[in-house]
Amino acid sequence: MASVTRPLSVRIDKKEFPSVGERPSNHVLENISFDVDPGSFVIITGPSGGGKSTMLNIIAGLDDDYDGQVEFGSQGPNIAFVFQSPRLLPWRTVYENIALALPPDDPRLANIPELLKRVGLTEAANAYPEMISLGMQRRVALARAFVLEPDILLMDEPFVSLDDPTAYALRELLVELWSRRPTTVLFVTHDRAEAVMLGTRILRLSAGPATIAEDVPVQLSVADRGDREKVRAEQRRIFGEA
Ligand code: ADP
Ligand code: MG
Repeated sequence: MASVTRPLSVRIDKKEFPSVGERPSNHVLENISFDVDPGSFVIITGPSGGGKSTMLNIIAGLDDDYDGQVEFGSQGPNIAFVFQSPRLLPWRTVYENIALALPPDDPRLANIPELLKRVGLTEAANAYPEMISLGMQRRVALARAFVLEPDILLMDEPFVSLDDPTAYALRELLVELWSRRPTTVLFVTHDRAEAVMLGTRILRLSAGPATIAEDVPVQLSVADRGDREKVRAEQRRIFGEA
């Protein structure tokens, strides 16, 4: 019964990619078990190549070849996924890329103009992805996720390969969207400052096969998150370094 009040309960006893040709099998995840409280912003961090994306894909239902079980709360999973690359359709406009996330007659389509305004893309609504910057493309991906009004938002390093100010602005935008439309977030990043700025809880994965090495709450108020010194101090507390 406990799982009913949780939006998400994850148990991955083992995930191994089978051997293919010359490539040996790869035991990526081991003995992972955690519950997620509604409305929390959970960071998943750990070594590169350590299994973070693999874990998110399993939670999203994109990979069901593992030992274990992922359970969702009573509302059923209305999941949105923001990938590491924006994954926009090049032959569709910004508006169309967002609209395509929904069925043709969905009432949520009416929210797109407002959402475009929030992410600063009203002027770019009719532009094609190749005409806009990577930062703008990532904003489209954010809007496409939020238009779904998801119960669970899965994000896999959604702000990588951006310069600092652009990444910072996108984090602020994400926090704003999130506070207007609260949802449970699982956010993968290897950026420790980003983890502390955004997360309410941080899961650190160990080296392979990855298990949860640490599960720590972030002790920062909303106001503290805009203060670089406090973010740095919390980063030192959690990760033990600058
Ligand atoms: P991370 O996201 O933490 O950087 P990944 O989950 O992408 O790590 O990858 C974890 C490990 O699993 C890596 O060694 C990677 O090479 C391997 N891997 C990922 N996807 C596949 C796949 N489809 N087939 C075989 N091995 C894979
Ligand atoms: Mg990854």
